[in-house]
Amino acid sequence: MIDVILDRILPQFCSVCGEEGSVLCFSCISTIDVSGVFLCPDCDRPSPNGEVHVGCSSSLDQVVAVTSYAKSVAQHVVRLCKYDYIEMMGEKMGKMCANLLGSPTSKLDFQVVVPVPLYKKRFATRGFNQAELIGKYVADTLGVKCEDLLVRSRATARQVDMVGEDRRANVKDAFSIIKKPPRRVILVDDVATTCSTLTSCADVLRAAGCDYVSAVVFAKG
Ligand SMILES: [Zn+2]
Ligand SMILES: [Zn+2]
Repeated sequence: MIDVILDRILPQFCSVCGEEGSVLCFSCISTIDVSGVFLCPDCDRPSPNGEVHVGCSSSLDQVVAVTSYAKSVAQHVVRLCKYDYIEMMGEKMGKMCANLLGSPTSKLDFQVVVPVPLYKKRFATRGFNQAELIGKYVADTLGVKCEDLLVRSRATARQVDMVGEDRRANVKDAFSIIKKPPRRVILVDDVATTCSTLTSCADVLRAAGCDYVSAVVFAKG
């Protein structure tokens, strides 16, 4: 609470270059490479439009990311998703995702935007789901609906602290569907380190009748 009050009273400084005026200045945010990261959801190697390679297999048909998480400004955008900055950062991430999806390189065709859900306790502590904010912005910009078709039915540990098989086991069967999805769906999240979480969501959507599941994330780890 004190932090929130102080943030409102004190001048703001760019968390990257230190310039006064905003928590992330225009010139720093403009350095983010928004040309897209396109990797096969199965093997994580480059693929055209982020589609699954012939010979690879995944319940996700395609994954596209605006930028790489390894670039430091992208990490600042994700980390600033707290207190007063969530709306601002959610909008920035949403705008960049929507621009990528609207570009001729993305070739995405979907009927509904589905945010990756948080577990209800995590949502209650945090008060927002950044995937939902990004998803709403993407949906508004592209003129489709954003719907919470999935719930996280159990708590999961932070994926970032895990490796390979553990990540898959951590999110396996963690999601369930609450409403029948249309045939073509796009999942939205802020960051994907591997595609374990997105794949787990895609498994559920496919089992519920989707025949094309793609995903967009702001940053790919
Ligand atoms: Zn700056
Ligand atoms: Zn592959």
